[in-house]
Amino acid sequence: MLPPFGLARPRSVSAALAELDEDSVPYWGGTELLLAMRMGLIRPRQLVDLKGIAELTEVRIEDGELVLGAGLSHDEVARDPLVAEHAPLLAYAEALVGNARVRAQGTIGGNLCFAEPRSDVATVLSALSAEVRLVAADGTDGADGTDGADGTRERRLDMAAFLLGPYWTDRQPDELLVDVRIPLPVTAGVYLKYQTVERPTVGVAAVARGAAGCRLVVGAVGELPAGFDFEDVASVDAEAIAGELEPTPDLTGSILYKRHVTAVFIRRALAELAEKVSAP
Ligand SMILES: Cc1cc2nc3c(=O)[nH]c(=O)nc-3n(C[C@H](O)[C@H](O)[C@H](O)COP(=O)(O)OP(=O)(O)OC[C@H]3O[C@@H](n4cnc5c(N)ncnc54)[C@H](O)[C@@H]3O)c2cc1C
Repeated sequence: MLPPFGLARPRSVSAALAELDEDSVPYWGGTELLLAMRMGLIRPRQLVDLKGIAELTEVRIEDGELVLGAGLSHDEVARDPLVAEHAPLLAYAEALVGNARVRAQGTIGGNLCFAEPRSDVATVLSALSAEVRLVAADGTDGADGTDGADGTRERRLDMAAFLLGPYWTDRQPDELLVDVRIPLPVTAGVYLKYQTVERPTVGVAAVARGAAGCRLVVGAVGELPAGFDFEDVASVDAEAIAGELEPTPDLTGSILYKRHVTAVFIRRALAELAEKVSAP
């Protein structure tokens, strides 16, 4: 049973910001939040339903970045033509998330803010060097804030700064994640996911960076996505990387097993990436 709670239905970002505090929390799909409330893990006084805020579902190119509203569902991201054109790797990974219900109901912003460690989305966005934009009402203590538009303060964080641990982010209670920004252009990329039950056991994303080599991110296997940068794909030692990770042992595998699977998936991802990069 859900505990009793109040409900606010703002129609704009500024109206939503006016509602937020420790005990009044935002939600979109509710795929994680309502479950946590049913389990008695959290009991907010009020939920702030973001679904009436149209600007949170926009996709656009702005200042050389692909901008994705936090309220886009996984399905919407997977099917968006701009995403398909500029960040096909993300479209591909989003189409693999969970099941049809989760892809239709769950959002890119909710995925990141919940910081479930077994996330495809966080792994791929880390590999794409994406940032999140957080906005708070002006006059509140949004640390490191720079002035945003219309009486708001905002800050941008990359994935490593935003995701602090399992179910833990740097988002402050008065902040809304408004969008995710991916620097363009994105060159070739590969995402491989190994999954036995619900959610990935291991996710490996590899993105070519032209002359700057490649970025490899291993997600889901440990508490946070782990990123590695290389000048030369051929020089990557998959076993050494897997050995550096701290896999979380659970019903999907022991530490030893997860290290082995990770090394296999790193090798496969890099081989696929090398093929893509060398294709005419
Ligand atoms: C059965 C199942 C399978 C899944 N499988 C996968 C998988 O394979 N891969 C994968 O990556 N993920 C998987 N997920 C996770 C899924 O992607 C997330 O549940 C979903 O994206 C969360 O989005 P939501 O809108 O429902 O979040 P909500 O439940 O609405 O919110 C989650 C949290 O984020 C906060 N929040 C939401 N939006 C904002 C915002 N804009 N600003 C600030 N805070 C916000 C809420 O306060 C809450 O704390 C799975 C989930 C389930 C339930």
